[in-house]
Amino acid sequence: MIPAKSRPVDPEGLAARFIALEKHETTHDRLVWGMRMNRDKAIDGVPDWKELRELASQIKEHTLTHLDQYLEQFEQNATKLGTKVHWARDAAEHNATVHEILQSHGVKSLIKSKSMLQEECGMTSYLEKRGIEVTESDLGERIQQLSNEPPSHIVVPAIHKLRTDVAELFAEDLGTDPHDSDPHYLAEAMRNNARPRFMKAEAGMTGGNFAVAETGGFVVCTNEGNADIGASVPPLHIASIGIEKLIPRARDLGVFIRMLSRSALGSPITQYTSHFHGPRKGGELHVVLVDNTRSDRLGSPDFWHALKCIRCGACMNTCPVYRRSGGLSYGATYSGPIGVILDPGFDLSKYRELPFHSSLCGSCSQVCPVKIDISDQIYKWRRVVAAKGLEKVAKTVGMSALGVTLAHPALFHAGESIASSGLTHAPRFLLYNALNPWGKHREMPTAAAQTFREWYIENRRTK
Ligand code: SF4
Repeated sequence: MIPAKSRPVDPEGLAARFIALEKHETTHDRLVWGMRMNRDKAIDGVPDWKELRELASQIKEHTLTHLDQYLEQFEQNATKLGTKVHWARDAAEHNATVHEILQSHGVKSLIKSKSMLQEECGMTSYLEKRGIEVTESDLGERIQQLSNEPPSHIVVPAIHKLRTDVAELFAEDLGTDPHDSDPHYLAEAMRNNARPRFMKAEAGMTGGNFAVAETGGFVVCTNEGNADIGASVPPLHIASIGIEKLIPRARDLGVFIRMLSRSALGSPITQYTSHFHGPRKGGELHVVLVDNTRSDRLGSPDFWHALKCIRCGACMNTCPVYRRSGGLSYGATYSGPIGVILDPGFDLSKYRELPFHSSLCGSCSQVCPVKIDISDQIYKWRRVVAAKGLEKVAKTVGMSALGVTLAHPALFHAGESIASSGLTHAPRFLLYNALNPWGKHREMPTAAAQTFREWYIENRRTK
């Protein structure tokens, strides 16, 4: 029996639920596609984008193939600056390390900025169970926290919600007017609520977009400045950084900083690009370097390129499946094309459906600023799922039957005649039922009066 935590998620069912919310679906599609269009305009203004993309890919590949060296260099240089560096093999070690640091400082209240790695580790619920109050400081992420939902997008976590949803949520939690969905009003209400939390927090946590081996510093990119306040007001700052976030030199930063926000939102740079080099005066800085399956992925010839990801979200914004089905339909930390290739690496059995939650159109690979072969990897994950016998039974049986039919021309031609007559004469309930997912949303095609083979025999074979 598959353990509960590894039961497959249901992207099809969850997507159907999102699509049924018509206004949510159309608004989501419009906003996410808008970010994709803005990205196109922004990169049009960078004449050397193609070269930049190639360079970014090469820097990442070089770093990943020398990762042991760069990690050690980072640790040495960070330690020289007064940063305490910790290593975590997996999510459990990461959470335990963070808890230990907080406990040793008697911290009961923590303010954190958005970090997909901390999401991946399930850190917030882990700390809350141990009596630590955790407040998300990014507006979208705080909306998700109040809704008890994970982020639905790696850059804009609450993009699947309407303004009216937020107004209702804030009315419950912040006492605002449920009928006033003016963004300024709502943002101001959250700002007033968040300020005292910043002031009383005993520790601040951030992620890290880039960690520079040469300097031992790291960079956090946000648009709200929330990470900076969280890291500057409380005396204790802890940053969780995935080991794939390393880059060799400070000068490499220029390549990625130019690409990140342009790819994500179409803006030239994130509003706040903050550099941390050691603790501030009188404070303490801890960096937890986390593996959590990254080393396994690095050893996989087919999937190691996924570690180049800089989490810009461009692949999500262009994906027709993501745009229509919403990020929560993936039922995983990472959604969209990048999620489809990352999540099975954490738990193949649980996320075995995700590689099929894609049209394989290849648009994701085209927009990726670090040239990850996303669509190739999606296809390869499908092969892994099939090879391990994890496909749906109906699909396995259907594909075997199709294989036999295609291998035997006589059987194929007999099937052709049956299908053609069935499509024309069968009663509707025989064609449109639970066994035919295609017919759920579309009419079946009208059978041609004559097949191509019949036409060919009649018109060409004798000539
Ligand atoms: S896979 Fe590429 S496009 Fe997608 S989030 Fe990562 S860097 Fe961005």
